[in-house]
Amino acid sequence: MSAIIPLNEFEKAHISERQALPEQYLGLSDAEMDTRIMAARKTLGDRLMILGHHYQRDEVIRFADHVGDSFKLARQVASRPEADYIVFCGVHFMAESADVLASPHQQVILPDLAAGCSMADMVAPDQLEMCWEELTQMGVTTRQSSGQAGVVPVTYINSTASIKAFVGERGGTVCTSSNAAATLKWAFARGKKVLFLPDQHLGRNTAYKMGIPLDEMVVWDPNEIFGGLDPGQVAHAKMILWKGHCSVHIRFSAKQIENLRKQQPGIRVIVHPEVPWDVVQAADDSGSTEYIIQTVKESPVGSVWAVGTEVHLVNRLAHQVAPERTVVSLDQFGCLCSTMFRVSPNHLLWILEELVEGRVHNRIVVPEEQKHWTKVALDRMLSIS
Ligand code: SF4
Repeated sequence: MSAIIPLNEFEKAHISERQALPEQYLGLSDAEMDTRIMAARKTLGDRLMILGHHYQRDEVIRFADHVGDSFKLARQVASRPEADYIVFCGVHFMAESADVLASPHQQVILPDLAAGCSMADMVAPDQLEMCWEELTQMGVTTRQSSGQAGVVPVTYINSTASIKAFVGERGGTVCTSSNAAATLKWAFARGKKVLFLPDQHLGRNTAYKMGIPLDEMVVWDPNEIFGGLDPGQVAHAKMILWKGHCSVHIRFSAKQIENLRKQQPGIRVIVHPEVPWDVVQAADDSGSTEYIIQTVKESPVGSVWAVGTEVHLVNRLAHQVAPERTVVSLDQFGCLCSTMFRVSPNHLLWILEELVEGRVHNRIVVPEEQKHWTKVALDRMLSIS
């Protein structure tokens, strides 16, 4: 059984908001695009490296030199110093991180500039400045007599370079879903509390798994004065969770798991930690995309899985990675990352053929003033395994 999942109306509407392409790149057949992409890749040779995130569609991911989650791809950036061009088939914040980690001569390119991330957009620099100022007024950021920081800021890699720079400058770091637990351990060795941005669910699920009770976590709402919290709540909390989420992963629910278990007794459920806390509790297992792939791949032949993460990865698990297992999406309509989907083979072809002609489009450059502290934060992330 495989998962064949239609787009819902929301997704259909959003995937149309793409960066416009020159007329000659529209209406091409798949076969023609494949042939021309391969030809352009061959011409560019070692000067080109294509990175592809697991959530990309198949028509794009098949051209990637490296496929992975944000953490794995960030590690790949330094692996090919001879590549002049790093074409990042992912979303904007990933390309920004690649630009910061790349050598000065390397140019990072995002095939469609409209490929953003709604979660990354949920924390703006001025909101974070205000939060820090208000935490300072509450006396929370003050360094302890033990030398420990009052609050260590940790941002998920799904955030803009300006947020990463803010965090880096204040002794914090970046985490991914692969190293979130190790990162929290790192942070609690340095500070009394953690301000976790921007995904409250990843922060809550990771901290809970490490033994921090829910009543020691509060949610900071950037649209409320003092985050909507009183000083007593903040003083008691170990985790201050930013009120952000992934619009794809919050579509999964504990009810879906309950229904599936009724329909298919024995089915195993594995979810990404960006899903809400009660969904993780109802599932059999949870972990990063890399962890999900390994777990399903190494499960006994004939196993039946429902997977709670982006639908392209689920479909790839079903058809390519673990074809001798039954793999379905936990959401019967599939949860598609509509911004990731904006990177089309047409965009990739346009970018590559223009590079062959010596023209660079859609270069992602992190402003110089943000680069230093963003790199500090990302280097800390890479050092935490
Ligand atoms: S799946 Fe969610 S967090 Fe990941 S890129 Fe898409 S919107 Fe952002």
